[in-house]
Amino acid sequence: MIKKPADSTCVCPAVLPSNVLTKPMVAGMTVCMKEEPKKYGHWRREMVENQILSRGVRDPDVLKAMATVPRHLFVSEALVDSAYGDFPLPIGEGQTISQPYIIAEMTQALELKGHERVLEIGTGSGYQAAILAQIAYKVYTIERNNTLFLQTRKLFDSLKYHNIVTRYSDGTQGWKAESPFDAIIVTAGGQQIPPPLVDQLAVGGRLVIPVGGHMSQELIKLEKTEDGVRTYNLGGCRFVKLIGQHGWDG
Ligand code: SAH
Repeated sequence: MIKKPADSTCVCPAVLPSNVLTKPMVAGMTVCMKEEPKKYGHWRREMVENQILSRGVRDPDVLKAMATVPRHLFVSEALVDSAYGDFPLPIGEGQTISQPYIIAEMTQALELKGHERVLEIGTGSGYQAAILAQIAYKVYTIERNNTLFLQTRKLFDSLKYHNIVTRYSDGTQGWKAESPFDAIIVTAGGQQIPPPLVDQLAVGGRLVIPVGGHMSQELIKLEKTEDGVRTYNLGGCRFVKLIGQHGWDG
């Protein structure tokens, strides 16, 4: 585990071509990895180059976050050496952490610049929230499974992710008291876009969610404008079920 508190002077390993490294981290915190074994930095570089850059993700902040966040700390000890593979992994309670490329693609679709307040539905392992927290100003994340909620809250504290706020509830109802959000990401799939999430999205904001059946979904990006909403289909995907009032039955 990372023992030192986050240190703004920490120089994270140079992992990407210089054109994607020139922009400083806009907001959030930078996890210092001076103490981690070298192999993890190497695996992250390979992950970014072979799985993410190669498939067309170009947002420098997303690439930098993916190259920085220690994904191996968000999976169980038995899976640490598989953490940077090109596949999803089990995180307990029948849930999964998405394949790195999908996480990069969804994060890029949110078009974050650094000032945003982002809502995530489905905290799970906390990895997606940690990626968001590297880029955005503040992350609000909701989990309906109490075991994962408690476990991940502890992890955020130990890794000093001070700009992540957690909540144990049904995320299909959103987080009204903290709305509107500049961006919303749902990391579980439902049959429809939960109406409260559209209501709680700021005008000018982006929402990304897998929508479809049990077995497969389409990744939908929704933009909210003065005139209404526009949706785009980003392609097929497969996520665990979004369970709740505006999702599947539990
Ligand atoms: N973002 C997570 C992905 C976890 S899998 C990560 O990076 O690891 C999806 C998660 O969504 C599961 O933990 C599941 O319990 C949670 N979930 C499903 N329906 C939910 C709901 N209505 N509200 C909040 N969380 C939900």
